[in-house]
Amino acid sequence: MQSPDQPVLRDIVLVGGGHSHVVVLKRFGMHPEPGVRLTVICRDTHTPYSGMLPGYIAGHYSYDEVHIDLSRLARFAGARLFRDEALGIDRDAGKVLCRNRPPVPYDVLSINIGATPQMSHVAGAAEYAVPVKPINGFNERWLLLLERVRKHAGVTRIAVVGGGAGGVEMTLAMQYRLRNELRAAGRNPDELSFHLLTSDAVILPTHNALVRRAFERVLAERGVDLHCNAEVNEVSAARLRTAGGETVDADEIVWVTHAGGAPWLSKTGLALDTDGFIQVTDTLQTVTDPKVFAAGDIASMTNHPREKAGVFAVRQGPPLAENLRRAVEGRALQPYRPQSKWLALISTGDRYAVASRGALGVQGAWVWRWKDWIDRRFMLKFNQLAVMETRPIEAPSSIKLDQEETAQAISAVAMRCGGCGAKVGATVLSRALGALHPVDRDDVLIGLHAPDDAAVVRVPPGKAMVHTVDFFRAFIDDPYIFGKVAANHALGDIFAMGAEAQSATAIVTVPAGLEAKVEDLLFQMMSGAIEVLNDANCALVGGHTGEGKELALGFAVNGLVDENIASVMKKSGMRPGDVLILTKPIGTGTLFAAHVRLAARGRWIDAALVSMCQSNRLGAQCLLEHGATACTDLTGFGLLGHLVEMTRPSGVDAELYLAALPVLEGAEETCAAGILSSLQPDNMRLRRALRNQREATGHPRYPLIFDPQTAGGLLASIPPERAETCLKALRALGYTHAAAIGRVLVQGEALEPIVLTLN
Ligand SMILES: Cc1cc2nc3c(=O)[nH]c(=O)nc-3n(C[C@H](O)[C@H](O)[C@H](O)COP(=O)(O)OP(=O)(O)OC[C@H]3O[C@@H](n4cnc5c(N)ncnc54)[C@H](O)[C@@H]3O)c2cc1C
Repeated sequence: MQSPDQPVLRDIVLVGGGHSHVVVLKRFGMHPEPGVRLTVICRDTHTPYSGMLPGYIAGHYSYDEVHIDLSRLARFAGARLFRDEALGIDRDAGKVLCRNRPPVPYDVLSINIGATPQMSHVAGAAEYAVPVKPINGFNERWLLLLERVRKHAGVTRIAVVGGGAGGVEMTLAMQYRLRNELRAAGRNPDELSFHLLTSDAVILPTHNALVRRAFERVLAERGVDLHCNAEVNEVSAARLRTAGGETVDADEIVWVTHAGGAPWLSKTGLALDTDGFIQVTDTLQTVTDPKVFAAGDIASMTNHPREKAGVFAVRQGPPLAENLRRAVEGRALQPYRPQSKWLALISTGDRYAVASRGALGVQGAWVWRWKDWIDRRFMLKFNQLAVMETRPIEAPSSIKLDQEETAQAISAVAMRCGGCGAKVGATVLSRALGALHPVDRDDVLIGLHAPDDAAVVRVPPGKAMVHTVDFFRAFIDDPYIFGKVAANHALGDIFAMGAEAQSATAIVTVPAGLEAKVEDLLFQMMSGAIEVLNDANCALVGGHTGEGKELALGFAVNGLVDENIASVMKKSGMRPGDVLILTKPIGTGTLFAAHVRLAARGRWIDAALVSMCQSNRLGAQCLLEHGATACTDLTGFGLLGHLVEMTRPSGVDAELYLAALPVLEGAEETCAAGILSSLQPDNMRLRRALRNQREATGHPRYPLIFDPQTAGGLLASIPPERAETCLKALRALGYTHAAAIGRVLVQGEALEPIVLTLN
């Protein structure tokens, strides 16, 4: 996270997590720039390293060995990772437009989004072919293809379109892997046939004759049918047709041809080349806009055109990092000239490779081992990261500020007077909140639409009001997602009571800084929160925003229930024989503790955030409809703590089935590594409530019953005859992890109310 002692003065936004940007992140992680905040906007958390992709396809590497975990890398770099897709740039406003979140402002922008397949000019290609590009999306497509081939009876005919290094390598890697798959399934590996088609007269046209001959020989030995001068101009369900009229029947068609720039770039006003790639100067700045940089496949260096290859994208990383620093500091940028000859190590799938550089070409199993060594060493730099000590920012920022910004920056680091209740300035607040649109409700008489000293809401006849409050500091760097989670967490109590959410007031703490940065932070965070509140038809009616060291957000929420509180779901109504149902998986405490220590995988954190953003509203309605006798939402006390809060007033005991607990991916691993939330020791005091605690301690899921949850699921007791239909209904509503995790017992003689079933 950004150091709270240093106000943010400039924003560098990186769009795409390609090979150049991972190098930029690493460099900024090693040498942070005072006052500069980095934000990465990327569709994917795990970014593939192209050099190892064919090895992954061939089955030599695991998924994690060939992917850089952007979540961890961003955390290491102190950068914010926004999981989203950029769809445009508003260059006048200096904002990146995203698919799923408010626009993200930048002072300096860099684009490293790779290439996009150009299939639209070939009839049927988009429909029937599997594109390799973008390579980050290929894994899913490859796993589906693998499954189809496994299930396909008889010979599977595979056609690869594209005779460059990518196409040749993919053909050989796929063949090697699929033959092994068939063999493992007890089938004949010869039930495969491969065709490789290229519009050029030769394969590997940018490589020398030695290399070409080596691959022609390998392809011939491996029975791959090579079609040169075969420009594919039509694709149908199981057939390719070339411009020369040749047809090739194929059950699977893989597309590895020339790619171009993403279509959305044409609306940015940036100058593009004929293939839609962004034209950049020697400083990697776009020729159109000095505030916008581009690198990797998406960039076309006007003075030094080169082949599209990951090696160039990686090499552009250091000069890009340097020039981004210089750009925010207003220093002169340094020109960069890519090498004219480069080493390509092209593999043949079977742990054998050919090295190609200029006129040189050598081959052998040793070349593969060499390549493997280089690739693994490269990946270690990004996947073996140590938590950096929080460094006091000694160096004064070298960023040039205008007079107004200087005054604001000095004021942000100077002792704040606090005499105004440390409130955030009214202008910033009204601008940030003015852009938000909370739902209107008839029972809100005075709210944000007509702000006053306090909000006035009506309690409709026959209704009673439910009050609750929750507040916590940001545990992630993405203010928009944090806003969603905080609102969801606060609403959880209302839904757990079976109430309807009516109105909310927000309490916000935001670090001091430049007005524009504070305003945007507030806007991003409150946008996320408003989306969740609006979805629950809960009107935001007011709030208070103060300055503090860390970003924090909470809500006081009002809900409505029937005056006759018999319909309210309380903690106390459990009946012996009831089934315990939990709607969402547990494990957020340990996962986010691991995230801080760079010990959690990005996809674990993604999945945990998705779970935290899932509302309990529909789940609560479903539980109510299925006769829930008691209910609560899981938060800080963890599963056991909240269960005991239910059994005690209900006068019952309960049995928990450890094996049946829904658990977030990665949570068992992080617990096993001894990484637990700082709240865990407090929660563990409740182990005295366990009847068979001693025998359970060694169970891998034992620590998870104490794990504190943020925006956790609902725990409810349901009459046994309705439990199964309730679970089905919950799953149909999207609570796919909902599970029966135990049952309610008659209160026994033992002092401890909870017994754990270990398997
Ligand atoms: C089969 C195959 C094998 C190859 N082998 C090699 C090799 O051995 N050596 C070599 O040098 N090159 C190789 N290449 C070429 C190499 O893959 C590319 O040159 C390289 O991936 C380009 O890197 P990049 O950083 O420009 O983009 P990419 O690696 O494609 O990364 C783009 C990133 O941007 C993200 N992104 C895309 N669009 C958006 C958006 N709109 N918003 C947010 N995020 C976005 C993606 O999720 C991804 O993280 C191979 C290519 C293929 C197809």
